[in-house]
Amino acid sequence: MKSGRQQAGFYKEMWKCIKDFGHWSGEVWNRKKSGEIYPEQLSITAVKDADGRITNYVGSMIDITERKISESKIQQLAYYDQLTGLPNRQLFRNRLEQDIKRVSRKKSSLALLFIDLDQFKEVNDTLGHNKGDALLVEAARRIRKHVREADTFARLGGDEFTIILPEYGDEPSIDRVVLSVLQEMEKPFDLGVGAVGHISCSVGIAVYPQDAESIEDLLKHADQAMYAAKDAGRNRFSYFTPLMQQMAREKLELKNDLRYALSRGEFEVHYQPIVALSSGRIEKAEALLRWNHPRRGQVSPAQFIPLAEEFGIIHELGSWVLSQSIAAVVEWRRQGREVQVSVNRSPVEFDKDDFKWPEMLASANLPGNAITMEITEGLLIRESGQVQSRLLECRNNGIEVSIDDFGTGYSALSYLKLFDIDYLKIDRSFVQNLTEDESDKALVEAIIVMAHKLGIRTIAEGVESEVQRDLLLSFGCDYVQGFLYSRPVSASGFERLLKDAGAVREFSETLEG
Ligand code: C2E
Ligand code: CA
Ligand code: CA
Repeated sequence: MKSGRQQAGFYKEMWKCIKDFGHWSGEVWNRKKSGEIYPEQLSITAVKDADGRITNYVGSMIDITERKISESKIQQLAYYDQLTGLPNRQLFRNRLEQDIKRVSRKKSSLALLFIDLDQFKEVNDTLGHNKGDALLVEAARRIRKHVREADTFARLGGDEFTIILPEYGDEPSIDRVVLSVLQEMEKPFDLGVGAVGHISCSVGIAVYPQDAESIEDLLKHADQAMYAAKDAGRNRFSYFTPLMQQMAREKLELKNDLRYALSRGEFEVHYQPIVALSSGRIEKAEALLRWNHPRRGQVSPAQFIPLAEEFGIIHELGSWVLSQSIAAVVEWRRQGREVQVSVNRSPVEFDKDDFKWPEMLASANLPGNAITMEITEGLLIRESGQVQSRLLECRNNGIEVSIDDFGTGYSALSYLKLFDIDYLKIDRSFVQNLTEDESDKALVEAIIVMAHKLGIRTIAEGVESEVQRDLLLSFGCDYVQGFLYSRPVSASGFERLLKDAGAVREFSETLEG
């Protein structure tokens, strides 16, 4: 029966088609006997007699309710994020394309915001993925309150969101939206059963057409601006500037050069002595990578290690540093000096399932404790079997483990005992303020006392003055490392330091000028 949903003109057209062509098919809304309205696939064919006169019509119909439901489900799956119900990357792109077309016709402008949550990974790692999901849903709900009907608020994946603000050319109104988003993310997230998440977010903004004329450039520039906000310390927003573009280009260049640097022999490992406070002797050294770039000169590892991580060549680089360090230890032993070398291992290196440390040590005929592995705190809370089994392997082979930059990350004290950590390296930032800052003094002393209670030894990093050293000595710190003793030096420079250990200080001063 007729549903009443089709206009009279619809049936007129239908009949005309049957009359002219003998056939019609299409989708219609019809009504069942019960009164229920449903979508139907209908086809009608005219049946003619020998003289070509229409005698009958044969209609066949199929209820396509199910198909309609699954079509809309597919639509939902294809264009919406299942967790938050927000438009997904695909729909975001479609909308951005449409908005840009409209805006350029009207000669107005549009702002694109890239929002990336800070510390989301920590929430996921410590509270579990369910709580992480709950946080994302709540974050989406909070942000949605600040966007208008005409804006598009989408989830690009993971903890990345985006907002398109069409016809929002001027900065004050963009700022208003961004500031409310930042404020919303700062508030604690109640995730149920006593779990509370603390995060913030970093936002990058690019404006069309001022900052970019194509979609691709606009996306890239918003992304660069977002990274600039992260680099500047997170929990803030940043507008795209041409300088960012230049920095991004430089980064790309470095990344490119990095691919060939190892095979071209541009790397070198330097060693910085670690001195036992009780004896004043050099007992250990930290291996620190140096890149002698043919055009740029020395590039800081703080700059190229993150690139190597992004690029995946950290694996090759890491095992190269290890083999160099092993060779150095072997040589120094031959000269009659036992020095334990500490090698930094990037968290990214744990992603790959091959751990050659014990094997490499064994083939150099070295005991496990000839080398220490320096890792960061964040690694311990990853809850990954991979990390756990590597650390276990270290312990079984006698390789000692240090926690680097202790106090700057997500310190989870219970994990120190759980993973059988051997050393804590107290971060330079605490040591730096030791002389003036009373609370830093208390903090450093507390870390040392706590570590000792747990059977862990401490190494203070970045010791530059005698005052710092004396304080550390009075707190019972075990080892110190820093410019007071020596800067990182080449392997041969380090050998000279060993030979002349009594005059370490004077020596390093003349060496480095
Ligand atoms: P880190 O592991 O915290 O290394 C200590 C950094 O502090 C070194 O910087 C060292 O030169 C510097 N330093 C030592 N004593 C002092 C001091 O008294 N005062 C000051 N101001 N600084 C001091 P560097 O060599 O630039 O290395 C930076 C970071 O790069 C390292 O921080 C480490 O995270 C990373 N890195 C270096 N080599 C490697 C490596 O072979 N593998 C990995 N994964 N990371 C590495
Ligand atoms: Ca280190
Ligand atoms: Ca460190």
